[in-house]
This record gives sequence, structure tokens and C-alpha cells, in this order.
Amino acid sequence: MSEQTSTKRPGKVYLVGAGPGDPGLITVRGKYLLGKAEVVVYDYLASPKLLKYVPKNAELIYAGKKGGVKHTHTQDEINQMLVDWALTGKTVIRLKGGDPFIFGRGGEEVEVLAKAGVDFEVVPGVTSATAAATYAGIPITHREYTASVAFLTGHEDPTKPGSKIDWAKLATGAGTLVVYMGIKNLPTIVKNLIDNGRDPKTPVAVVRWASTPEQRSVVGTLETIAEIVHGADIRPPALIIVGEVVTLRDTINWFEKRPLFGKRIVVTRTREQASELVAGLEECGANCLEFSTIQIEPAESYEVLDEELDRLDEYHWILFTSLNAVNYFFERLYSKGKDARDMKGPGVAAVGKATADLLMNYGVRADLLPAVFTGEGLAESLLDQGVEGRNILIPRAVKAREILPETLRGAGAQVTVAPVYRNVAPEGKREQLREQLESGEVDMVTFTSSSTVRNFLSMVGTTDRAELNALMRDVVIAAIGPITAKTVTDNGLQVHIQPESHTIPDMIHAIVEFYKAQKAGV
Ligand code: SAH
Repeated sequence: MSEQTSTKRPGKVYLVGAGPGDPGLITVRGKYLLGKAEVVVYDYLASPKLLKYVPKNAELIYAGKKGGVKHTHTQDEINQMLVDWALTGKTVIRLKGGDPFIFGRGGEEVEVLAKAGVDFEVVPGVTSATAAATYAGIPITHREYTASVAFLTGHEDPTKPGSKIDWAKLATGAGTLVVYMGIKNLPTIVKNLIDNGRDPKTPVAVVRWASTPEQRSVVGTLETIAEIVHGADIRPPALIIVGEVVTLRDTINWFEKRPLFGKRIVVTRTREQASELVAGLEECGANCLEFSTIQIEPAESYEVLDEELDRLDEYHWILFTSLNAVNYFFERLYSKGKDARDMKGPGVAAVGKATADLLMNYGVRADLLPAVFTGEGLAESLLDQGVEGRNILIPRAVKAREILPETLRGAGAQVTVAPVYRNVAPEGKREQLREQLESGEVDMVTFTSSSTVRNFLSMVGTTDRAELNALMRDVVIAAIGPITAKTVTDNGLQVHIQPESHTIPDMIHAIVEFYKAQKAGV
């Protein structure tokens, strides 16, 4: 097979627009091509989150190019790199911020490819000008205000003779102006516009990191904006939007008005399970800092479970107290050549709705769901059914609370606990978390189980209460339920948010309500 992929097969370069920052704004074609990449050369402005679509064995090359900072590769080096990789027969994706043909030097790159006889394709992207306008609530061509918009670069020194920008024509020639790369030259740009006849009272917005959770925007007029930007310490990458349309932002600014906009929330969950909470919080505008404080691994031994799997019909109940328990149980069941039909004897109970839904995916309907979604709640519901003399199997974590098996045994049941997975604290990221807490960047930490609390504390790396309290002083803590909350308070910290029912959607709702109340000054 390797012979087929030898240098004989011509490679191809795809210049792909990554969109402005939010990884959701890449085109369908762009995402498809990332999935086919053998080499990806990506820019500073292309969201690194897009790299998750790239096959694991692909070559990833950071081309850098950040205004003002030493370029990682010169433009000539990048051009040559694209040609060289293509000539080795590779499928090369050149991932560029926004649209490749708008101030991105995409034109120069494909000129070089064309000259070298390399096959190429260009996939457009959402350019940052339209994204910044949209995400700052500014419809750039609202028909009651203007019929024209111009995109220009502010990178050129506007005082230099030979500038390609004709300020005299542009200042009043287009209703709306959007200036790329103009932060450094902002004072000269506004002066040029005013000197060439644009009303000094014209509204101006400056938007940084548009469409990302880091977005920041400020508004002023041609007269005031340079000072406002300086005072607010707005740095590149940012766009300058000039024109009456900027005033519409007062009514249309939907993105920055989302309830959790700008909030930095640490999500402490297992890697596998973080997505629902993160997705929900991000929908509301939060900037989620994901720390996998737990890593789930298979149990070291399946001795107990294997034995019980052969006599499942002797059980009256199988209890599932977590999603992981369900996944690992079925994985083992299947590996023994069995499936859901081997579970038709015992009743099946789930600790909560998500666990019951997951069971359904494996073809098993939960017969029992407690009124309160905790181990205690489950024990109580079973006691109501009467458990004396009943055989009960609990597949679960190696280390877990003993309350459920103990309560059931106390009521006369025969309980077998079968360990199917382990919670381990993952390595790495420790320093990053600590740094973010120390610099006061974290607004909130979320806990979705007692183990997430314990692992978070071990990651923070202090048992000293005074130190811990100092680190967490301004951090809001959200705990999914009473048990998790108790683990938090047992460690000397305070819980500020706890949803009434212990589900992820309710947790998100409670977090939103908390900030709404805070904003309203309640
Ligand atoms: N090809 C890109 C532009 C590259 S030039 C595009 O189509 O968007 C680089 C400039 O783009 C930056 O200096 C800044 O002015 C602007 N820019 C890119 N991404 C941005 C973002 N997310 N928010 C604000 N400005 C951005």
C-alpha cells in the first residue's frame, strides 16, 4: 500500500477559511477537508479547536504570524512549505483565519502554488468583518442607514506617501467602513477620516476576538474611539467598524447579552462526560475551562463481574448508579458474547434519568427510577419494594460510597458489588489551573460528583484551608446535588449554587439564574 502513496501521486493544497474564531463557523466543506488532511498548516487566527477534526496521524504545523510578534515562519517559508509538502504527494490543508482571500495573503500563497504547478482549491470562510459586526450586534448594511460597505486594511501607515488607500475618497465614499489590522494605527486612521470630511461624531465600534468567548467590544465616535480603545487596553486582533449602523447595537447586541457571556467557568468532569455541561454553558455564553479532574479507566480485575454474568438470572435487581457503570458493564457483557437478552431475569434500576436513557441505548428499559436521584434515593425506592432475601448486583466504581449496599444489606438483601471501572486523577494541567485561580481569571467552578471535588482539590494541590480559601475567595462554586455539596463544605469551601433536581440541564439553569439575580442586584 505504501507504494501507492509514493511521490508519484500528485498532492494538493486546500486553502481553507477557518472562519473568525468560533470553530462552529467553518464551512461544511472546510470541515470535510480537515477530516481528509495529511498535513495541516494553520495560523494564529484559525481556532485551534478545529484541529480536532484532523486525523490523528496528520502532520500539524503552526505557521504563526501574529502582528507585532516575531513570525514563526516567514511568508516565503510558508509558501515553500506548501509546495514541498504537495510535491511529496500529500493532501495539505492550509487553514487560515476568516476568509483566505480577505487580507490573509491567500492570494499570494496560491500564486506560488500555481507557478509551481501544484494543484489547489480555495474554500472561502466567514470573514472576521462580518462576524465582528454580527457578534457585536451591528447590521453593516441596514438599509435605513447605508447602501455600501468597504473593507480596508489599517496596517499601512496612513501617513506614508504611496499608500494604496485613498482616504479622501473612502472617508465619505462608503456608508460603513470596516478596518482590519488597524488598532496600532487607530489614531491616524480616525484623523484621516475626519480630515477628509467624515463627521467626527460618526459612531465607531471596535471588536476584539469576535465570535469567541473572549470577545470584547467598545463603542465611541471618531473623535473619542482612540482614547477609549487605549483606556480599555484593546489589542489586536480587533476590527474597527465605522458608520451610523453602529448605533443599532443598542437593540441588537445579542451575543454579549447572553446570560453567561464573559464568565470563565471551570468544568470539572471526566473527559468523556464534560461535553453536555460544557455545551450547555457555552450556549449561554460562558467561556469554559475544561479540567478533567477524573479520568475513567477500566477496573484492574473483572473477576467478580465475570462470575456474576454467568448467573444473572439468579438476581432480582441490577442497580446502575452512574453512566460509567452502564458503559463498562455492557462492554464486559458484550465481550463475553452476551447481550441485553441475558438480562431479562432481574429488574433493572437506574439512579437517575441520564443513566436510564443510557441503558435504553443498550436496549434495556429501567424498571425503577427513584424520586430523588441519589444513592440514598435509590436505596429508599428499593426498600419501598421490599428487598429482604433479594439478590442484588451493583456494578460500579472500585471506590465508591458504601451507603447503597450497606442500606440494602441492612434490610436483609444479598448484595454483590462488582467493580467495573476506576476513577483516577489525570496528570498535567495542574499548573495551568493553579495559575488561573491565582490570577483571578476564574469566575466559577462546577462540581458534578464528590470525586470531582476531591480531584479538583488534589489538582489545586493544597490542603491548607487558609490558602485554599484565599485562592477560591472570589470563585463561585456550583454543586450538582447535596452529596457533592457536602463534600465541598467538608473541605471548608462554600457552595453558592445547587440545583433543585440533580441533572445537568437543571445545573445550567441554576447557574444562569444565579448570574441573572446577581445582575439584578438581588
Ligand atoms: N483573513 C482574515 C483576516 C486576516 S488579517 C479574515 O478574513 O478575517 C488579520 C486581521 O483580521 C486582524 O488584525 C483583525 O483586524 C482581523 N481579525 C481576524 N480575526 C478576528 C477576530 N476574531 N476578531 C476581530 N478581528 C479579527
